Amino acid sequence: MDLKNKRPAVMLSTEIIQKRVVEMATLIRQDYAGQELTVVGVLKGSFIFMADLVREIDLPLRCDFLGLSSYGSATESSGVVAITKDLDGPVDGRHVLVIEDIIDTGLTMAYLLQNLATRRPASVKIASLLSKPARRQIEVKIDYLGFTIEDRFVVGYGLDFDGQYRNLPFIGTMD
Ligand code: 5GP
Repeated sequence: MDLKNKRPAVMLSTEIIQKRVVEMATLIRQDYAGQELTVVGVLKGSFIFMADLVREIDLPLRCDFLGLSSYGSATESSGVVAITKDLDGPVDGRHVLVIEDIIDTGLTMAYLLQNLATRRPASVKIASLLSKPARRQIEVKIDYLGFTIEDRFVVGYGLDFDGQYRNLPFIGTMD
């Protein structure tokens, strides 16, 4: 599939995304009231979503980042995951909220949850902007979900194709 040099078509507009991000942040703020939260962004795709989300969460929180790279082709994940950047700080005894751009097969998140569990956090929840349930290979409980989408390859708002398109202010389709 040659996706290069294609102009993405809008699937989710900036306005729709912003409204949903505020709704998600409101739920998160209610659920974590009185607790200290450690927000862990999965690089690179979650960086824009995380930046928008945390600015709407009016709670004391820390931000940390984890770099994960899933081997496979540009558009298909293989489930073999490598940590390319580890967390800067410990999470033992902390309430961890993992921020993902999209959960597709679920293999990346399943690996990450296993890895985080060994670090003895007080709790781990997941916030994902997008989910493609049609492609799931492992069940993953998404505690805060932005949008369920059909099985299309999407870019923008942090998501890339071959390193590009992350800066699009909307979610667009390439296929
Ligand atoms: P999973 O392990 O759940 O199959 O894949 C998760 C990762 O695959 C996401 O964090 C993202 O990097 C990548 N991914 C899955 N679907 C898409 C998509 O439609 N567009 C882009 N840009 N990346 C995707």
